[in-house]
Amino acid sequence: MVQELKSKVAVIGGGPAGCICAYFLQDNFDVTVFDFSSPLRTLLPTGGGRCNLAHAEYDFKELAKSYPRGEKFLYSVFSKFSTSDTIEFFEKIGVPTYTQDDMRIFPVSDSSKDVRENFLNALKKVKFVKEKVLRIDDSFKVVTDMGSYNFDYAVISIGGHSSYNIIKYLGHNIIEPKPALAGLKTKEDFSSLSGVCLNDVLFTHQGVSGPAIYKISSIRARDNFPYKLKFNFIGDIDFQSALNENPHKSIKNLTADYVPKSFAEYVLNSLGINPDEKCHKINGKTRDKILNKLQNFEITAVSTIPDSEVVTSGGVDLKEINPKTLESRIVPKLYFCGEVMDIDGFCGGYNLQNCWSTGFAAAQSLNLTLSN
Ligand SMILES: Cc1cc2nc3c(=O)[nH]c(=O)nc-3n(C[C@H](O)[C@H](O)[C@H](O)COP(=O)(O)OP(=O)(O)OC[C@H]3O[C@@H](n4cnc5c(N)ncnc54)[C@H](O)[C@@H]3O)c2cc1C
Repeated sequence: MVQELKSKVAVIGGGPAGCICAYFLQDNFDVTVFDFSSPLRTLLPTGGGRCNLAHAEYDFKELAKSYPRGEKFLYSVFSKFSTSDTIEFFEKIGVPTYTQDDMRIFPVSDSSKDVRENFLNALKKVKFVKEKVLRIDDSFKVVTDMGSYNFDYAVISIGGHSSYNIIKYLGHNIIEPKPALAGLKTKEDFSSLSGVCLNDVLFTHQGVSGPAIYKISSIRARDNFPYKLKFNFIGDIDFQSALNENPHKSIKNLTADYVPKSFAEYVLNSLGINPDEKCHKINGKTRDKILNKLQNFEITAVSTIPDSEVVTSGGVDLKEINPKTLESRIVPKLYFCGEVMDIDGFCGGYNLQNCWSTGFAAAQSLNLTLSN
């Protein structure tokens, strides 16, 4: 019997992006995934172990708005494979999903371990090589720490903060990687407030964290430190009426009607106001000082908190990748997918959606080369 000879594809990096790409290639190509670690290991900690697979936004242009880097580039990618395709794909491999009230999509099992197991089972035709790729020579010799292998095509999906040298060696420009979706170290010492959470800002020993800060750190990922942030923690309130109605209450207890008590004390102390002062003794000037502090609370971010980041902003320059095919504009037959590119999204399933969509799009382009 004559065995059909399939073209060989090397997928460098067996994270979510590399693995979904391998899945959609495995019927038509001889696919080898190189990963120095275990495939899909990076899926395990996602969503706090529950794996927030995607976000329930079904309009792809709206979906793309949640990517501070990559919005326009993703239009064509999302038009090929978007949220509903993600849900369908996971259903097909035995991972039904559900949508939370906040629009985040999770597996019904609420287990990233379960997602990983099902995903790996669906990659039956893929070869996995547990070696570190050191270099890729032209068209395409993959050199690892243990040997070298020849391929017809290569897909690079090595994720963020990783082996960019491989990519630079191929002639690509790397936009300087910076942490995004991270906690922020602050000039101010908030250690006495550690654990206090206010309007999605969580105070910590090192500074601030929580959903609001993650989003800000993402939007400002390319800005230089230090930078100042301003928060209105109480909105517009009629503080004078509250003072009038509670003349014998301490200012600390009145302020604590609006913000956590420890935060109220922190603010009053920082303004040199006695927290036990009765409300009827608070004059207009002091009232305005308190209001101004709570409505324009300033934080000075001096850096991100080391290793707190969820994604990397930066990576392969998108100008050097064809958004319709995910093929390199510099090296023919070389493709990229996932976080290795200069694409990053907010919290809520967007970063994995980038992996599923770009992984699919790269595979689709490769599959189309067979019919040309
Ligand atoms: C704690 C945490 C929680 C997260 N939770 C979520 C979430 O719930 N939802 C969401 O959307 N996103 C989440 N993310 C982000 C998401 O996990 C990443 O965006 C995603 O894993 C990126 O996938 P990738 O395949 O592009 O890269 P990676 O997952 O980083 O995979 C790259 C792979 O390449 C391998 N590799 C690297 N260099 C080499 C080399 N030289 N040779 C061989 N192999 C190599 C690595 O070992 C790795 O397995 C989370 C991230 C973190 C850190």
